Amino acid sequence: MSVLVWLVLVTAPRAPAPQAVLIATPRGETSVPVTTERGTAAVAAPRLGPPLGLTVALDGSRVTVGLSGVVFVFEPYVARDTVFLPLHWLADCVPRAVGGRYRWEPAPGGDTGRLVELPIASAVTATPPSTPSTAPVLPPSPASAPNPITGLRLRHGVVIDPGHGGVDPGNPGRYFPSGLVEKDITLAIGRLLRAELTRRAIVATLTRSTDTLIDLADRGALCKAACDLFVSIHVNAMPDGRRADRVSGVETYFLSDAKTEDQQRVAQMENEAISFETGTSSAATGPLGFILRDLQVNEYLRESAQLAQLVQDSAARIHPGGDRGVQQAGFTVLTTARRPAILVETGFATNRTDGAFLASSLGQHKIASAIADGIVAYLLELERKRAVAPPARGR
Ligand SMILES: [Zn+2]
Repeated sequence: MSVLVWLVLVTAPRAPAPQAVLIATPRGETSVPVTTERGTAAVAAPRLGPPLGLTVALDGSRVTVGLSGVVFVFEPYVARDTVFLPLHWLADCVPRAVGGRYRWEPAPGGDTGRLVELPIASAVTATPPSTPSTAPVLPPSPASAPNPITGLRLRHGVVIDPGHGGVDPGNPGRYFPSGLVEKDITLAIGRLLRAELTRRAIVATLTRSTDTLIDLADRGALCKAACDLFVSIHVNAMPDGRRADRVSGVETYFLSDAKTEDQQRVAQMENEAISFETGTSSAATGPLGFILRDLQVNEYLRESAQLAQLVQDSAARIHPGGDRGVQQAGFTVLTTARRPAILVETGFATNRTDGAFLASSLGQHKIASAIADGIVAYLLELERKRAVAPPARGR
């Protein structure tokens, strides 16, 4: 594959920017909102990922974007944990750089511009009739060569949610070094997980990258178009009592009604962040049951269960506290994700071994890497199911 590198300069727009861009490809149309970032009309890179098969890597001093064998280099342009790309790049650079592949159609009225992907004649393969898609949205074929690290053929996006934050410390962390609480551990692991996924060429976004509190209902809602799955990171704690110190290990939850007393305990503990919130969130934080009526969420239950199992298997292999298995509970944070969603309780702050593991740099790296491996295993399954990759031999 020939690679062409473009250095993209941010320039002032020459005309009023449209409010949205319509990405029109042979696989469908996606509307992406245009926002103003640092005075320049821009689009969020993760939203362009699935429709265009875009890859985005942020390494601190530059953002590198890959599209159809062309690499674009930008000055970093990050707001709200999201990489933004200037609109003029989409309108000017892409049609010129990716020869003959894209056409920009400015909006006559000014509201919506269109980026049209022109079909490749040889790529006209039979596409199934458009069925109502409830499975995770993936950019369908043409499938590219598998990534050498992961074997994945498509671009994927993951939203990582470090639990708690700001005025909500999470659990106090009895066996953490003094001053550390759950929100610090979840943020550290969340950042490491983002790095691990980025290394695996998966676009990863954090719901928070600092010590702030995001409303529970808004966390899951961040996983929309460019997101394949949602993973929330937490640290467990046992209530005071005789067996409090003895319980240890990692467990992974997916959404459903809480089944056992212990599952209800964990769900109640994690949902308590609602009491810290302002109540101004767009989605109501009413009883958990209401959302189960949402069919779209139910469609993701089976996917979420499989994701939970693969992440749990991977995390249990490296965890000193043992394998507590996959659990089901009703978490507000998961009900608002419109994709497969899991919540990992990475260990017990009320257990000496788990506490030391989670507070250590080595432990945090191990758990982040294990979760990333589980996510890759799930995405490989997903690609196989969607017949992106040839079926595995021996099946
Ligand atoms: Zn928590």
